[in-house]
Amino acid sequence: MHFLKYVTALLFTMLASLAMAADEIVVYSARNEQLIKPLFDAYTAATGTQIKFITDKEGPLLEKLKAEGKDSPADMLITVDAGNLWLAAKQGVLAKVDSKMLTANIPAHLRDPGNRWFGLSVRARTIVYSTARVKPAELSTYESLGDKKWHGRLCLRTSKKVYNQSLVAMMIARLGEAKTEQVVKSWVANLATDVFPDDTKLMEAMAAGQCDVGIVNTYYFGRLMKKQPEAPLALFWPNQKDRGVHVNVSGAGVTAHAKHRQAAVKFLEWLSSKQAQNMFADENLEYPANPQVKPAAMVATWGQFKQDTINVSKAGSLQVKAVMLMDRAGYK
Ligand code: FE
Repeated sequence: MHFLKYVTALLFTMLASLAMAADEIVVYSARNEQLIKPLFDAYTAATGTQIKFITDKEGPLLEKLKAEGKDSPADMLITVDAGNLWLAAKQGVLAKVDSKMLTANIPAHLRDPGNRWFGLSVRARTIVYSTARVKPAELSTYESLGDKKWHGRLCLRTSKKVYNQSLVAMMIARLGEAKTEQVVKSWVANLATDVFPDDTKLMEAMAAGQCDVGIVNTYYFGRLMKKQPEAPLALFWPNQKDRGVHVNVSGAGVTAHAKHRQAAVKFLEWLSSKQAQNMFADENLEYPANPQVKPAAMVATWGQFKQDTINVSKAGSLQVKAVMLMDRAGYK
């Protein structure tokens, strides 16, 4: 009798651990497979939790989440840009996560004030300049790129890209609409050539002598430098005496209808931890969001900088205003 009880108890324990080992999460990711797969594999190896995922662009993923509603198999959404995360939260596809670990690991300005998403890596959008034609002492702020001395010397990426919409949205938050419009107009007046479809083409044009100053995300600079270490370009950290460098995030949230909510929260917590942060940031030459974690060696060579600590969710809430402002200013 005793023996039977013992066997039954053992059986239950085994079943329970089997159920735990079979823990599974479904992730919808706007970050590509090459960036996220190593993380998923590391987590599965450490915990046994299986991670299924699909990757797509952020727009279609958000539409899919909305269309699936309660029936969505997704437990987590991973995407880039606070503007996209803000929109996902606004459209109700993300659920609040109260976690001491997440709020300890991720600084307040890099997460949703309502805890529906958390920044996991930081991307700085900063000034790039030609080391052949510009001395860093000539540079100071984003605003000063509108100074007369840069007439015919500035390169910008298209205003259609969310990165520039977020940059201008944050300027509206910091400087007000009137001042920001003045600044954007002064940039447009200084353009050396038509706007570029992406940051890499902008820097290639600068290296080729088409312009002398511009604004890019640092990881594109890193990618270019890996391929062409001799490129005559360098980064400059603007606004160090006032608000700091404009930063944005890539991040994640647990979905509103997650079938494996607990497992997803645990995974999100792990993503903010020391073990995962370098894996999340380094592959794309970004900065870890957790300030206790150091960036990759190449990224560290670009030096330390003060970042703007205004909440990145402003990039979302002021995006429409930013788009209209850029249109009025003639920024294509
Ligand atoms: Fe990018």
